[in-house]
Amino acid sequence: LVRIDGVHKYYGQHHVLRGIDMTVRQGEVSVLIGPSGSGKSTLLRCINRLETINAGRIHVRDELIGYRESRGRLHDLTAKQIAAQRREIGMVFQRFNLFAHRTVLQNIMEAPTQVKRQPRAHARSRALELLDRVGLAKHANHYPAQLSGGQQQRVAIARALAMEPELMLFDEPTSALDPELVGEVLAVMKELAESGMTMIVVTHEIGFAREVGDTLTFMDGGVVVESGDPRTIIANPQQARTREFLSKVL
Ligand code: ATP
Ligand code: MG
Repeated sequence: LVRIDGVHKYYGQHHVLRGIDMTVRQGEVSVLIGPSGSGKSTLLRCINRLETINAGRIHVRDELIGYRESRGRLHDLTAKQIAAQRREIGMVFQRFNLFAHRTVLQNIMEAPTQVKRQPRAHARSRALELLDRVGLAKHANHYPAQLSGGQQQRVAIARALAMEPELMLFDEPTSALDPELVGEVLAVMKELAESGMTMIVVTHEIGFAREVGDTLTFMDGGVVVESGDPRTIIANPQQARTREFLSKVL
């Protein structure tokens, strides 16, 4: 579903992604780990075109992301075309970014009604279904500030799912949470994985990687150092840098 070929990204002089190759099959859960500054967030942001890239190609379901190619050259898409591509991809960040002045239900209904122009009644019943799925049916009319961090993050997941994305990107979705709230968010993500959603998850939760991940990719310094079966890599990393990183987070 996702194919990343030779992606390079610079911030000014700073070469942040140095030739990333990665594929994610339909229904696969791909877990991305690596030290701070290794380029994990940047890579996710390139996949949903929150960032431009300087070389390489990213395809999602055979569609080139962010650019139009003609005679071997890339041309920028219009803002409208980029927005249309982004709509197919859900993203959940470390911070929940819910609209503080809207209820949980309104937060989830916002994009389907405003962007997809769904009828309110339809968006509402769909939002309630999603809230039920993330275990928050009773909180539909609460405001974000009335919820715990874990509950807010589950609303953020429901909100992303309301757009019916074919791919979900998670950037450290539990790292801003109190430890006792991490499990409920991981449980929702696990359930989503089991439902067949294709997911790329940046996380330091090695237990999640081992249990739910189909692939584990370790990045360092803007390159993929090692990638493969999570259990194999965690038990027996082949690269010294991977071993060193895992010894710190395990
Ligand atoms: P963390 O685990 O801390 O989230 P990360 O692996 O997600 O790290 P990135 O956020 O992708 O790392 O950052 C990679 C590098 O790019 C870092 O050196 C960072 O300082 C730099 N960087 C990230 N965003 C920008 C930006 N908008 N402008 C300039 N440099 C940036
Ligand atoms: Mg990051």
